[in-house]
Amino acid sequence: MRQQMPKQDPAVRRTNFDEVALGFTAEQALAEAKRCLNCKKPLCVQGCPVEIDIPQFITLLVAGKPDQALAKIKEKNSLPAICGRVCPQENQCEKQCVLGRKGEPVAIGALERYCADWGRANQAVEPSCEPECAVKGKVAVVGSGPAGLTAAADLALMGYRATLFESLHAPGGVLRYGIPEFRLPKAIVDYEVGNLKKLGVEIKTNVLVGKTITIEELFATGYEAVFIGTGAGLPYFLDIPGENLNGVYSANEFLTRVNLMKAYLFPEYDTPVRIGKRVAVVGAGNVAMDAARTALRLGAETVSIVYRRSRAEMPARREEIENAEEEGVVFRLLTNPVRLEGDERGNLTTMICQKMALGEPDASGRRRPVPIPGSEEELPVDTVIVAVGQGPNPILLQATTGLALNKRGYIEVDPETMMTSIPGVFAGGDIVTGAATVIAAMGAGKKAARAIDRYLAAKKEAGK
Ligand SMILES: Cc1cc2nc3c(=O)[nH]c(=O)nc-3n(C[C@H](O)[C@H](O)[C@H](O)COP(=O)(O)OP(=O)(O)OC[C@H]3O[C@@H](n4cnc5c(N)ncnc54)[C@H](O)[C@@H]3O)c2cc1C
Ligand code: SF4
Repeated sequence: MRQQMPKQDPAVRRTNFDEVALGFTAEQALAEAKRCLNCKKPLCVQGCPVEIDIPQFITLLVAGKPDQALAKIKEKNSLPAICGRVCPQENQCEKQCVLGRKGEPVAIGALERYCADWGRANQAVEPSCEPECAVKGKVAVVGSGPAGLTAAADLALMGYRATLFESLHAPGGVLRYGIPEFRLPKAIVDYEVGNLKKLGVEIKTNVLVGKTITIEELFATGYEAVFIGTGAGLPYFLDIPGENLNGVYSANEFLTRVNLMKAYLFPEYDTPVRIGKRVAVVGAGNVAMDAARTALRLGAETVSIVYRRSRAEMPARREEIENAEEEGVVFRLLTNPVRLEGDERGNLTTMICQKMALGEPDASGRRRPVPIPGSEEELPVDTVIVAVGQGPNPILLQATTGLALNKRGYIEVDPETMMTSIPGVFAGGDIVTGAATVIAAMGAGKKAARAIDRYLAAKKEAGK
């Protein structure tokens, strides 16, 4: 039987920011690893966007060699403690695992996390590289989310001097400012970013490329190629009356204030975030679940998810929906906000919602929500958090002449080479695909690093 990872009790965890899922014990990890059939044609590997040799690392775990199991994972994945926690394994490796056909797949994600945590606890020797060994040239990486971190790590391992430029004061992208502490402790992000530094990656924070320095200037100062991994961090809004009232946040602002500025440690950190008794979060993706669960932990009495479709269409990971339910988040499904109302001082008081029914499937294949006439209802609220998606971070795009964008405003790349319309400038992650996943961004960073290596090698060969 598949091992269940122990978790903090819901009644306790909704009052703290400590990690919810506690990780396998050594006994559980061994029992779970032994379930793997070590298939000759491991379909799980095909489901992994960075192609970790899953059966091999599991075999090493069974053999009692967690250090070697971790080294095997690290051949492909420089951020295993992060991926083991936040990857949607149920749609990737575990979806393909043969054991899932008749029963439950191997808990590959939990085993990956186990190996990474074992390495951290036992101070396993991480790959390292002195800066002097970077002989192949200098590459600039813009944005330090999973796409940029992976591109920089892989370039360093290939012998390049990679410099990460990050506009915020701490590296990590969404891993740092989006995903909350109770799902991904920042100590884990610090540790994995620290390992990158051991590879010789230089990290320059507080540099907004496009304003502080342009891409042209990066080339002029000796960088031979540039990778852009600036993500999709620009929040979308609902575009309904009342959205400018006090008490309305984008999920992006709310989570950034809590995560990056440590609002949850007020008054130790002097950055409070105002949260009322009744909070409504609009949307039903991972971002919405994170915002709702964060609001609970900040002391809200009721937190509702307001979503215009039904449970079957909710885009968040199943595990996170269940975690939110266990913690007491209320789900108001088939409900769409149409207007926000406030008092004479401009403070939010009420969300007016309309009930919806499901009609025919739309372009996304999901059944379209259709308003039910005359079904408006009032929901008293002090805080509304809007989590209905994000668009591309625009600053660098606007400041860079000749950078081709697609119709949705994301960077266009050659899918084979990841090169943009500007020679020597590559891109990957959410800034190319739109909001996606950590591992998809990492896969893009890897692909781009290989393409940059080929591009620079060819250039040198041609003597340019
Ligand atoms: C709240 C939340 C929860 C999520 N949960 C999950 C999950 O559980 N599992 C999962 O797989 N995915 C999850 N995702 C999605 C995932 O985090 C993203 O798909 C992924 O982080 C994209 O990586 P990226 O490297 O492309 O960009 P980002 O992580 O967005 O990083 C981009 C970085 O570039 C920086 N930047 C932007 N412009 C500039 C500039 N001009 N100069 C310098 N730096 C710049 C930004 O500050 C940022 O640090 C979640 C997203 C959010 C918002
Ligand atoms: S498909 Fe499942 S059982 Fe087969 S090697 Fe992969 S994890 Fe093991």
